[in-house]
Amino acid sequence: MAECPDSSYPPPLTLTQEQFLLSTIKDWTIQNGLAVRPSPTWIPEAVDQKAVLATNAPVTIFPSPFPKPCFDEARAMQDVYNELYAAIASNEEWLGNIMEELIDVDDFISSLWKVHQAVKQEGYVQPLSLGLFRSDYMIHAPPGSAGPSLKQVEFNTISSSFGGLSSLVASMHTELLSSPPGCPMTYPSHPFLDGKRPPQNPAVETLSAGLAAAHAAYGPSKPKPPLPLCILFVVQEKERNIFDQLALSRRLISVHKIPVFRVVTSEVLERTSIPSGNPSRPLIYLPSHSPSTLWEVTTVYLRSFYAPTDYKSQRDWDARTHLERSAAINCPTILSQLSGCKKIQQVLAEPAGPDHLSRFLSNRDSAIIARLRDTFAPQHDLSPVGRGRELALNPETAAYHVLKPQREGGGNNIYRSSIPTFLRSMSDTEWKRWVLMELIQSPAAARNTVLRSDGQVLSGHVIGELGIFGTILWNRDGTILHNKEGGWLMRTKGRESDEGGVAAGFSSLDSIILY
Ligand code: ADP
Ligand code: MG
Ligand code: MG
Repeated sequence: MAECPDSSYPPPLTLTQEQFLLSTIKDWTIQNGLAVRPSPTWIPEAVDQKAVLATNAPVTIFPSPFPKPCFDEARAMQDVYNELYAAIASNEEWLGNIMEELIDVDDFISSLWKVHQAVKQEGYVQPLSLGLFRSDYMIHAPPGSAGPSLKQVEFNTISSSFGGLSSLVASMHTELLSSPPGCPMTYPSHPFLDGKRPPQNPAVETLSAGLAAAHAAYGPSKPKPPLPLCILFVVQEKERNIFDQLALSRRLISVHKIPVFRVVTSEVLERTSIPSGNPSRPLIYLPSHSPSTLWEVTTVYLRSFYAPTDYKSQRDWDARTHLERSAAINCPTILSQLSGCKKIQQVLAEPAGPDHLSRFLSNRDSAIIARLRDTFAPQHDLSPVGRGRELALNPETAAYHVLKPQREGGGNNIYRSSIPTFLRSMSDTEWKRWVLMELIQSPAAARNTVLRSDGQVLSGHVIGELGIFGTILWNRDGTILHNKEGGWLMRTKGRESDEGGVAAGFSSLDSIILY
């Protein structure tokens, strides 16, 4: 492994250099679509009445150093992780046993499970599922350790975002690194940056190829006469991260020549239907811009329906059920969404627990399974007589832990010294909603400067979280039709912030320089 950069990285900037870089970055982001819609708290909707404004996504000025062996290992594990989660989602009995405990205490999980049960009772008509996954990691380097190692923060099976924007950050940092010497649109020289570039980031290619593989696997149109085929993105209302999603649909349209439409969750039932007389249950889309043309949806890509707030009324649950029971390939299905629960990750990582990995990855050799297990940080349940409860109630051990609920999107966890009191305040069964995870101890030597979307500039010590993207298309019977790794996301947050998450406002998009 090459030398880790010392505390002199990144090179200091004079005020003029920083101003110049920041204004270059601001213009670059808008010119290239590394952008988000502004929050209504900065730009009142009364000012942006036509919703036309955009601003830079939160980005770092400098790329962050990242150990190459850890990056290579994260990439090498991705197709194995894809397979693991596809196998879990295909094992309804195993998943159901774990869900049983959660259903009693978590309304959201319980409602999702009910959707699956209802569709199962009627009979699923689509055996294929598509996963656009992202496995997130931090570097673990506790004091006294031999060297940095790679530990998984979580595995995402629904709405894994930022593939579109993260490849743009890599391009932006690459351009800043490649400007001719002396050109003011570049970094001051530093030995760590000399001749370096971020690695290729094919996230958009990988994710759109996954969607295209599902589209192709759907086969011919089911109704007679046949309808033209399309992919449907189901999105949140007033989505601020729309440009990230458009990077995927744009490639699907321009390279794969697949029509893509977007529908907001509240309009799913209005814009799509399943003809009652057709037992194969094709999902028909009726575009609002051209009501006379009907389309048949091959693949539903959810960038919504992952949080309780996405289900505002029974109508939204009906919409999710409607998509799940249709012939469209769901990305993800309910079972695939539930496989990504923090509880599942805890069961897999339980230090003294059964060897689930060897069972789910029976065709992989034991050395690979051992490497995958090495990426786990210890996780525990909080049962009244278990090790997890002991660790969580003792302030000395709680200081090295995080408490996580079955939610996505950031901002939901309880950290360190807040854990014991929080746990004591829970009712007899409520603890089942949470899992306890050992904190990954990142080296926080690096510094960086970030440009937030509201124009704020922040500098300080930072911690990075690397995500690796992967796609898998599989049949319930266990056949895998497509399994690919490709593309990454680096998010960087201030050392003092426990939480991560770009959309949740804690971190910024970054790229990496390997060492
Ligand atoms: P979510 O699905 O809401 O993104 P995460 O498990 O990713 O849930 O937790 C949110 C954030 O909390 C992460 O981005 C990371 O910053 C922090 N975090 C979660 N687990 C750990 C951990 N074991 N060690 C250190 N930080 C963690
Ligand atoms: Mg998540
Ligand atoms: Mg996360």
